[in-house]
Amino acid sequence: MSVARVIVDVPSRETDRPFDYLIPPRLEGWVEVGSRVAVPFGGRTLQGIVVGLAEDASVDLKRLKELADVLDAVPPLSAELVELGEWMSRRWLCPLAISLQAMLPAALKGKTEKYITLARGAQWPADTLETYGDLKQALERHSPLKMSGLLQQFPDRADAIKKLLKAGLLEEAQKVEDRLSVRTVLTVFAPEPDALREGIAAIPARAAKQRETLEYLLAHPEPIAQQRLAEEVGTGTATIRALADKGLLELRQVEEDRDPYAGRNFPQSAPMRLTPAQAEAFAPIAGAVAERRHDVFLLHGVTGSGKTEIYLQAIQKCLDQDREAIVLVPEISLTPQMVERFKSRFGERVAVMHSRLSNGERYDEWRRIRDGRAQVAIGARSAIFAPFSRIGLIVIDEEHETSYKQEESPKYHARDVAVERARQHGAAVVLGSATPSLETYAAAIARGTAAAGARRAYAASAGEGTTALSASEDDAIRPVYVPLPERVGDRPLPGVTIVDMREELKLGNRAMFSGALADALRARLERGEQSVLLLNRRGYSTFVMCRSCGYTAQCPHCDIALTYHRGSQNLRCHYCGYAEREPSVCPSCQSPHIRFFGTGTQKVEEALSQTFPGIRVIRMDVDTTSEKGSHEKWLTQFRERRADVLLGTQMVAKGLDFPYVTLVGVLAADSALKLPDFRAPERTFQLLTQVAGRAGRHELPGEVIIQTYEPEHPSVALVRHHDYAAFTEQELGHRRKLGYPPFGRLISITLSHEQAPALIAMGQSFASKLRERASAAGLTGSNAYGAPNALEVLGPVASPIPRLKDRYRFQCMIKYRGDVDALGWTAQALQELAEAAKRTGAQISVDVDPQMML
Ligand code: ADP
Ligand code: ZN
Ligand code: ZN
Repeated sequence: MSVARVIVDVPSRETDRPFDYLIPPRLEGWVEVGSRVAVPFGGRTLQGIVVGLAEDASVDLKRLKELADVLDAVPPLSAELVELGEWMSRRWLCPLAISLQAMLPAALKGKTEKYITLARGAQWPADTLETYGDLKQALERHSPLKMSGLLQQFPDRADAIKKLLKAGLLEEAQKVEDRLSVRTVLTVFAPEPDALREGIAAIPARAAKQRETLEYLLAHPEPIAQQRLAEEVGTGTATIRALADKGLLELRQVEEDRDPYAGRNFPQSAPMRLTPAQAEAFAPIAGAVAERRHDVFLLHGVTGSGKTEIYLQAIQKCLDQDREAIVLVPEISLTPQMVERFKSRFGERVAVMHSRLSNGERYDEWRRIRDGRAQVAIGARSAIFAPFSRIGLIVIDEEHETSYKQEESPKYHARDVAVERARQHGAAVVLGSATPSLETYAAAIARGTAAAGARRAYAASAGEGTTALSASEDDAIRPVYVPLPERVGDRPLPGVTIVDMREELKLGNRAMFSGALADALRARLERGEQSVLLLNRRGYSTFVMCRSCGYTAQCPHCDIALTYHRGSQNLRCHYCGYAEREPSVCPSCQSPHIRFFGTGTQKVEEALSQTFPGIRVIRMDVDTTSEKGSHEKWLTQFRERRADVLLGTQMVAKGLDFPYVTLVGVLAADSALKLPDFRAPERTFQLLTQVAGRAGRHELPGEVIIQTYEPEHPSVALVRHHDYAAFTEQELGHRRKLGYPPFGRLISITLSHEQAPALIAMGQSFASKLRERASAAGLTGSNAYGAPNALEVLGPVASPIPRLKDRYRFQCMIKYRGDVDALGWTAQALQELAEAAKRTGAQISVDVDPQMML
């Protein structure tokens, strides 16, 4: 008898280890590493993933339970992906169950549908029975009931159900269900030609359509959907069924792939002749692919420098070797042009992992990859888990984008996963960007491959003797620096004008558009050219404020302002989903002067129509793009020049390439600079540089106008000359002084609980455990300037959002550098805390290398 070691799908730290199960004889041969199984666990049946097999475990075999079932004929994960999951769990300190879940397509994730039953033998106290008797009755009539059904029946009893569960009067049950749905198509299979001819001869003369159908099959013997065949012959499906009944053809259900791009034509594109600059950048990448050598490249190319063509040709090299490629893009619905370019070059071989696809559609694409029918996967973050087995190349476009970091557990960064996965496969990694993240850029310099100028800038900022960024990083990425400093075809980068809005105010202009921007927009309208307007809204919200007393509407469960939604006319909390009606008078002072603040895109749209009557505007923001396919729809309209202005938030800054866009305007360039996040200046610089790159990408020259209240801030001022090197030099200098990445690393621990005092105590206990370890290791625990090794624990302090969903939140920040086992120590300290946390009901979440400080 053999034994399967299973990670059970309970995402908690206490159960974060494999459990052993006997493989019963009927399942022998079906169970592999990566198989999805159903197992009995604590009285329930749960889903799990097999992470190991053993002939006989050291434990008493008789005491082991048996696997209940194997859920898929082919294991959804490979041994390689299971190993990658284990690596992720160590790297980001998260339970293995969570890492493995992240790799499964949504269709295969166990239903988390909860079922509720009455606890057997529990006595309901009289007062409880009086208040909640209706709940009990419902469960007596029918049990188990789906939690969702119960909530539908008793919409305001969620808290009561929770309470009764806690009191042991109700119990939670769980069933494993598969959300899997493979679409099938009724398909016609023709018999051998001889049999067909016999059939035709046997058909009576009056059944002309039946005869025609068989004649069609004689001419087209390949399987065909019943519906298609009926259309081709011009008959009904009854004719075909009649033939099937007579045994003259075969009708069978066949699994169908739902190709989300079905019915779309992609013109073939041939490889372009690389420019000398492109060829020089391409050579080392192609070399690594040809030699099947793992290496990482930072392709630092300005907007429009032809990076995408380099990706395409490197992928071709990889396919020529019968190997596979993954391309990550920040947000696939924002990059339809990118997808088109890949489809045009590689056609059917491309699988698109699109977040807007249905679970079924995504599952089909995933199967095409796993079954070897697609060799190129393109998608957002999670496409890094594409189930390939022979990866030769991984491309990460716009590698600096924050969307590559997942903000829920597992809080992985796709860039790090890519490098680890590529290492396993002997594959090359290309990180492309016009504005690389400071971490990646500094790491390329540390490898010593950067251009002399960049190295000098780095040395100036880093000071003597700081070549090591943070020493203990076995996992550190060290890319080869590959610059591409010029645009294709010697097109100039657009000229950038920075407008000081304080001066505009002094001149008496209180409008949303400066004189310069208004003139420029007008000129585009006259010439029939197009403009892109970016409203940098990060940090702004459309909140509600009373002008009489200063009241702002807050979420009652989270310490955060509610956001006004015009469509539904209500106020909503973006964190917990709480919603309330829009107030007509101030709830605090009854004044009617309650107003919606913030500069939403809708307001800009209104201002545009007022200033330029007849102007055609496409607005792209969360409100206008919630529907499936809406991004593509807007962008197609804009490309077909059915609008003069594309107005939007961050989403208009990304990857778009329109020949008639000659003006880019930025409103409120500095709105995100004040956010309490040390990356705020970097993000602002990146965003402005990206959006500036949308202008003048083709024959017509481009112009960029940036409106700001802080024209001297480096994040704004240095965009003017597209001066990445100068900005980076300054910013690295700051980071070094403060010990922030890339000169140090961070781990953030957030504790949450319904009561604050327990939380503070727990945070302090965690911090002191860690400090003890640091001082035992001979670290002073200070972050002293110049010390090669340091670890500092900051906090506990209230989190930037101090209360969320009725839970208080405190956080500790661990800041360290050098040869310090901070991950190991944190893991140990958390382990020691887990028991107390479980007892008190506190939740702990860990973010290793956090990207968002908010
Ligand atoms: P990036 O990805 O660096 O922003 P793109 O790959 O989009 O740049 O290239 C910018 C433009 O230059 C595109 O219109 C592309 O078709 C064109 N282009 C790229 N490489 C070449 C080449 N070798 N010859 C001619 N045109 C090219
Ligand atoms: Zn008021
Ligand atoms: Zn809330």
